[in-house]
Amino acid sequence: MSKGILYTVSAPSGAGKTSLVQALVESNPEVCVSVSHTTRPMRPGEHNGVNYHFVSHEQFASMLEQSAFLEHAEVFGNLYGTSQHWVEDTLTSGMDVILEIDWQGAEQVRKLMPDTVSLFILPPSLPALQQRLTGRGQDDPAVIERRMNEAINEISHYIEADYLIINDDFTVALAQFQALITSQHLRQPVQSDRHRALLSELLSEQAL
Ligand code: GDP
Ligand code: ADP
Ligand code: 5GP
Repeated sequence: MSKGILYTVSAPSGAGKTSLVQALVESNPEVCVSVSHTTRPMRPGEHNGVNYHFVSHEQFASMLEQSAFLEHAEVFGNLYGTSQHWVEDTLTSGMDVILEIDWQGAEQVRKLMPDTVSLFILPPSLPALQQRLTGRGQDDPAVIERRMNEAINEISHYIEADYLIINDDFTVALAQFQALITSQHLRQPVQSDRHRALLSELLSEQAL
């Protein structure tokens, strides 16, 4: 069984990364998304263990001490971290894993696992980003203002990513995301690993 592919998906808050990742995972049984740990308060409609593992600062600090995180970062005043065990076990089982993490986390993961494929999602404009954050209706105005203030800083890190998708028309952006996943599976080393038996048969004159 070959190992799965690891992706990071980063974007300014409200660009649509959670919606795109969820739609992608729903139509790809071999791709799953890591559920991060966070100290952020739960939003209406969120569920513990589904959107995030919601933990206290004390629990987060104790996980840090036990080196439980593959990466962690402070974003908008809250702590976020990715479970190392879960990511490694899931990749080993052959599944692809998506990490929806900020640019600081993506940088840490790229250093630790250089084969990681990084994607950055951008909104079509700053007013559209603000409308999406407001329209989502889950954060209070002060939180939205803070996220808009951070947006340009987050956006400036697009340059570090391997791939860039502009989430203007959702259907188009989702098709582009699907194409990216498909293309990673067609890479020669990935295909060679998967079709080892076929390749050895095709290269064997005895099979004629
Ligand atoms: P969103 O922008 O609506 O997805 O808002 P969230 O509050 O869910 O996430 C806030 C930020 O934290 C985003 O930039 C995420 O990419 C980032 N984030 C979420 N989980 C993780 C994680 O496990 N590690 C890191 N480094 N960043 C994370
Ligand atoms: P993020 O996870 O990047 O913060 P979300 O996936 O929560 O972003 O999307 C923010 C809001 O924008 C949601 O209400 C979502 O339904 C909406 N949205 C996402 N993509 C689009 C799009 N292409 N056009 C219009 N609205 C969108
Ligand atoms: P939100 O709190 O709105 O869900 O996420 C805010 C930001 O935190 C988003 O940019 C999101 O990508 C980032 N984030 C969420 N989980 C993690 C994580 O585990 N690690 C890192 N580094 N960032 C995360």
